[in-house]
Amino acid sequence: MTVTLARSEVPPSQQIESLLPPYDAEIARQTDAFYARVEDHVSSHDWPAMGRRVHAIKKLQKEQDAVILAHNYMPPDIYALVGDICGDSLALAREAAKSKARTLVQAGVHFMAETSKILCPDKRVLIPDTQAGCSLAASITGAQVRELKSRYPNVPIVTYVNTSAEVKAECDICCTSSNALNVVEAIAAEWGVDRVIMLPDEHLARNVAARTPLSILVWQGSCEVHEQFTPAQVSAIRRRHPGVRVLAHPECPTEVLDAADFSGSTADLERWVDDHRPEQVLLLTECSMSDNLISRHPQIEFVRSCNLCPHMQRITLDGILASLAYGRHEINVEESITVRARRAIDAMLALPDPVTPADFTRPAHNAHVEVVS
Ligand code: SF4
Repeated sequence: MTVTLARSEVPPSQQIESLLPPYDAEIARQTDAFYARVEDHVSSHDWPAMGRRVHAIKKLQKEQDAVILAHNYMPPDIYALVGDICGDSLALAREAAKSKARTLVQAGVHFMAETSKILCPDKRVLIPDTQAGCSLAASITGAQVRELKSRYPNVPIVTYVNTSAEVKAECDICCTSSNALNVVEAIAAEWGVDRVIMLPDEHLARNVAARTPLSILVWQGSCEVHEQFTPAQVSAIRRRHPGVRVLAHPECPTEVLDAADFSGSTADLERWVDDHRPEQVLLLTECSMSDNLISRHPQIEFVRSCNLCPHMQRITLDGILASLAYGRHEINVEESITVRARRAIDAMLALPDPVTPADFTRPAHNAHVEVVS
């Protein structure tokens, strides 16, 4: 993989300024419809600075035949204003593969951009900030997976999509938080085994283990955002907000899921809110998820007790603008890694979608878990 690491990812303000049109009557007219999407939290005083950026980004997108893939954890100015395709990492990867655009700009973290490049090797894939990493992806290397394979030669290895291309290339199949349980059970059935290695999120693996009779061999990686939630925090919020519905992402510790009303991937959490429309809801996940749902559900009170992902926060409107203007930073993945990582992703995509998307609602039992890291 070749990536140019820049000392400063976002150019100085003078460089950005030179890319922006003046906020005149014409730009105001052309960006009015965008302002309507964010006027509940962006003042008319602050809008011209944002509107100029949105206008410049849209213009460059058109010139360069580019689409912007915005993850659910992107802040509302990116998610609502410039995201052409919005969703969780699996949805973004799938849509990226279908897109006819020549360039993809990943408003998300590095492993997502690599996944887009693996699925779309002929497209130019840009990420505004190469230092937008992920604590899960950083927790394991390809060499460590090779070592596990030699220790457990007859045990299939499932890797969460939150891993580098090199790690995916060493694994048998990928999974997401939407389909983790189904993937683990499907690969065990295919190999005729009762043990599966699941990398690298210990909490996701333990949450899967509590809902399958299989033994799960876990790696001790974790998401620095979700591992911070605690059952005590949930109890305190329930005392302060009686009746609040608590939804947790399965990267949270098992005790947190036990204290929640529902658990699932970001797409599943979104669907739950759309379907149930509770009066008050607490989303135990990255803060931007609530921010993005508020505009769709102004009548719901989103109780705020969330954590920000420092990696996602590195992506900004200025970074996206510079990415398009200067072609930075292009993601490339070595062909031999692309071919093998693609195999693991395709194995996942070939499985039917789960009938019940969030199977973390299945009752938990004593899990069979062995730590392998
Ligand atoms: S929220 Fe967690 S899993 Fe997602 S990018 Fe940030 S550190 Fe990684």
